[in-house]
Amino acid sequence: MDFPPIRNGIDYLVSVVEHLDSDTCTGPREIKYAVLHLQAAAEVLLKSRLLREHWSLVFSDPAKATSEKFWASDFTSCGTDAAVERLRNICGLNITRKDAEALKNLGKDRNALQHYGLTHSAEAVESRAGTVLDFLLRFLDTQLLPLLDTQERESIEEDMSRVRSGLNTIDAFVNERMNRLRGNELKGATDSVLPCSVCGQWALAVIPNGAHCHFCGTDVSAEELAPAFQEFEPGHPVNECPQCCAPTLACFAFMDGAGEEVYYCFTCQARYNPQELTNCGGCGCLWPHEGDDDGTPQTLCGDCRRGIEEEELASR
Ligand SMILES: [Zn+2]
Ligand SMILES: [Zn+2]
Ligand SMILES: [Zn+2]
Repeated sequence: MDFPPIRNGIDYLVSVVEHLDSDTCTGPREIKYAVLHLQAAAEVLLKSRLLREHWSLVFSDPAKATSEKFWASDFTSCGTDAAVERLRNICGLNITRKDAEALKNLGKDRNALQHYGLTHSAEAVESRAGTVLDFLLRFLDTQLLPLLDTQERESIEEDMSRVRSGLNTIDAFVNERMNRLRGNELKGATDSVLPCSVCGQWALAVIPNGAHCHFCGTDVSAEELAPAFQEFEPGHPVNECPQCCAPTLACFAFMDGAGEEVYYCFTCQARYNPQELTNCGGCGCLWPHEGDDDGTPQTLCGDCRRGIEEEELASR
């Protein structure tokens, strides 16, 4: 068994924290190499663990693996997503959905970077890199470092502590920024803040027709946001807003909610308690509950009510 890949992976991680060091200005070039090297580190380290299980698992198609091809390095190797899947399904590793997602996003960032240049702000990259670094350090501690003998472990100790202190610097940057935002832009806005899908921070403040992330500067439209939160129930796949009719009504809990869910329209910002809404007796769409006390046997939405009125008129 050959361990240079582990050393190689750690070497990439040292480069990542050096590029993201907040003492120096984090420019586009630093961000670029941080992302490229973090992706390279993830790939090398995940595959080191697969190698330990069996060398054929690093082939993109293990069914076509031969030892000749492996030793000649003459094969296409599996990608990070496949590696995560194999580590879970074959090696039985418990990789959380959040960590798997962070690794996937990193892969996307790397590809986007190579084709279009940077697509996210420095803040977003730093926050995302922090999540992946945290995962890779845990992965090294539990899965890879125990494979090394004492001498090998000593030889990487210095690099490991550089990476650990680098992660602390990144975490400190993220915490400082979040604390400042909580005291300013996000102050008192706890019932209108959501987690941002780009940077992962609870800094996505809703505004008319969408939301804006104060942490990483990402703007998201109502049309992009709603599907992520919408409940896709059979029969009424799209929740139309009773107030503005846009298909952007979703049910979720804001930061402050502590489990209290609201129906919220990402277009017109209408809010309803779940008890306030019920399914229209005609078409099943969500509509403010009309109650039985006024003699109305069931709730009808505007469209269905108009339809019935027109039918009645026509039959007269
Ligand atoms: Zn963000
Ligand atoms: Zn609306
Ligand atoms: Zn209806």
